[in-house]
Amino acid sequence: MSAIIIDGKKVAEEIRADAGLRVRALVDAGGAPRLDVVLCGDNAASGIYVRNKGRVAEQLGIRFTLHTPPADSTTAQLVALVRELSADDDVDAILVQLPLPGQVDQDQVIDALDPAKDADGFHPANFGRLAEGRAVTAAPSTPAGCMELLRRYDVPVRGARAVVVGRSTIVGRPMAVLLTNADATVTLCHSRTKDLSAVCREADVLVTAIGRPRMVDASFVKPGAAVIDVGITPIDGRVAGDVDRESVEPVAGWLTPVPGGVGPMTIAMLMQNTVTLAAARRHAAAA
Ligand code: NDP
Repeated sequence: MSAIIIDGKKVAEEIRADAGLRVRALVDAGGAPRLDVVLCGDNAASGIYVRNKGRVAEQLGIRFTLHTPPADSTTAQLVALVRELSADDDVDAILVQLPLPGQVDQDQVIDALDPAKDADGFHPANFGRLAEGRAVTAAPSTPAGCMELLRRYDVPVRGARAVVVGRSTIVGRPMAVLLTNADATVTLCHSRTKDLSAVCREADVLVTAIGRPRMVDASFVKPGAAVIDVGITPIDGRVAGDVDRESVEPVAGWLTPVPGGVGPMTIAMLMQNTVTLAAARRHAAAA
């Protein structure tokens, strides 16, 4: 047996095409959606991610505005910027690219976002709704992208045993919530989990968001399981996932490659979120 390779690039293209159509409908109805991104600091990976987001947004006709406050900005300065964008009626969606520089209190900056413009669903009001199983306008892009891949490849989730490795607020925790909301039975693991490979071997759906290249080999994988590799670690000018593909591919039922799996989905879901937030704001304004 060899795993079905989940083509995130192809699915992301479909989602972007759909978002592009919805952008055109909004343009016809009076105005293109606007996404503002705050990029603070000189994290090289963040710079690349933001450039890619800007390129895709512009291709789709989304107005993209990048704010680059200096790397030595204070928490108060970033909070003021995010409040200003939140209050600007022309702005539909805001993304604060994480991580912020060490001197900045990230939580205070995220708290300053208008939850109705929260492009990545990080605001505690939105995460709280998600955790309660209530509807949200925009779910966090990376885990939402993982759920979309599972759905499009008909991976059974309801009633399945799911294991998520990694408990960050941007990937692991919301991933566990989304799987719970989809009726999986979920275990959330982290660096203190005992006998991690044995826990992972119980999973019908295994999601790794660790950032340890090729740590997850066949000994972590139940035969036939769906393995979703979120990890991206740059090595020698290329990127590696958390999963050792050579070892896992013969055992798993489905597998996302790195690159070309979850990565492209993150940007596609961000675009979808931007359009959805813009449509919801237009709808609320018209009501
Ligand atoms: P964080 O560093 O915030 O979180 C990593 C998590 O992995 C933590 O919960 C940590 O546990 C856990 N962990 C670390 N080492 C081990 C270990 N040996 N065994 C078990 N658990 C471990 O990372 P992020 O969530 O932000 O990102 C995770 C990965 O996903 C990174 O490679 C990142 O680049 C990638 N990523 C990819 C995206 C995409 O679009 N594909 C988007 C976002 C991230 P603890 O909490 O105990 O420290």
